[in-house]
Amino acid sequence: MNHVLDVLVIGGGQSGLASGYHLKQRGLSFLILEASGEAAGSWPNYYDSLKLFSPAKYSSLPGLSIPSPGDRYPNRDEVVQYLKNYASHFQLPIAFHQRVEQVSKESGVFQVRTTSGETYTARNVICATGSFNKPYIPSIPGQEDFKGTIIHSAVYKTPDAFRDQSVIVVGRGNSAVQIAMELADKAHTTLAVREQVSLVPQRFLGKDIHFWFIITGIDSHWRIGKSLANASSVMDLDGYKQRLKDGNPKQKIMFTSFYEDGVIWPDGSKEKVDSVIFATGFHSNLSFIKDLGGLDAKGDPLQDRGVSTVVLGLYFVGLSGQRSFASATLRGVGSDAKYAVKHIQKNTIVPYAE
Ligand code: FAD
Repeated sequence: MNHVLDVLVIGGGQSGLASGYHLKQRGLSFLILEASGEAAGSWPNYYDSLKLFSPAKYSSLPGLSIPSPGDRYPNRDEVVQYLKNYASHFQLPIAFHQRVEQVSKESGVFQVRTTSGETYTARNVICATGSFNKPYIPSIPGQEDFKGTIIHSAVYKTPDAFRDQSVIVVGRGNSAVQIAMELADKAHTTLAVREQVSLVPQRFLGKDIHFWFIITGIDSHWRIGKSLANASSVMDLDGYKQRLKDGNPKQKIMFTSFYEDGVIWPDGSKEKVDSVIFATGFHSNLSFIKDLGGLDAKGDPLQDRGVSTVVLGLYFVGLSGQRSFASATLRGVGSDAKYAVKHIQKNTIVPYAE
């Protein structure tokens, strides 16, 4: 058995790296276990045209700014490079190609087993695995009869494959709206939503909206954070409001079922469709802690602000709305990681006041 560390961090994306930063600051012994071969999280898998919804000055992890003029909106590849630099800048200890398959606990020590047959041990575990590996597609009547293409936004890369097709994008979050907007220039595109898209202006009184989120405290207030994270408001980049008004893309209330060649709308009308892209989010990706009893019946972690409420020494970083509106973002994850690491030092399952 390996040396017992203070902490094992599972996942080496932004959440794992921010955790590593704070663990190092506090002098705790730790190792980050990352399934892939690089410290960039899921960013390399996101769609090609992705630009951050927050400008560079509000898009950094603790201790090192993303190298870009503050008012610019960095793109996907810049974030990938930034995260890799971040890991090497702070010399964070990472074991690559280590996919965790099971975490157990014996006599107060966690045993973390990976698919390559290694076992690591620690007194605490931070789960920072994101949710990108577990895309969620709702089940809709007639789905199996549909002869067209159904994909999740997690595998969408560019609009080129859909040129001149009739496409429906399902969802009303940032990914759904951004994908529908870029598709609408090349394909007949409809956004299928349960409720109308709710848009937040990108700028207000001459400042980026994130400036206001921060000075009003919206970004750090955990109750407001939870409700805003659930409201799934979308940043109005590049005139989205006007484009939706103009029907480019169209916006319709979600179809009720599929048929062979397309979909059936709530008024009973049928529409032929080539492809349907579900931008319907992700589920927790934490099956490796199931045997510890750390999950509810749906597979979501039993936790309060990132601290397991059932397993002493178990933590989470990077959950949506975990402690604030900004929790699962580049700008917000550092503060959640700090909270978890402070808690680890106290080594108690009772959440403490900051
Ligand atoms: P991930 O990036 O998913 O990283 C998790 C890591 O854990 C991965 O490297 C994975 O390989 C590893 N892993 C998973 N399972 C295991 C395992 N069992 N064992 C070991 N390792 C494992 N946020 C912003 O701030 N600004 C934006 O503009 C923005 N745009 C987004 C656009 C899209 C399309 C999406 C999906 C999200 C966006 N986000 C944005 C939200 C968030 O910042 C990203 O999802 C980010 O990638 C989350 O980081 P993470 O480290 O929590 O998870």
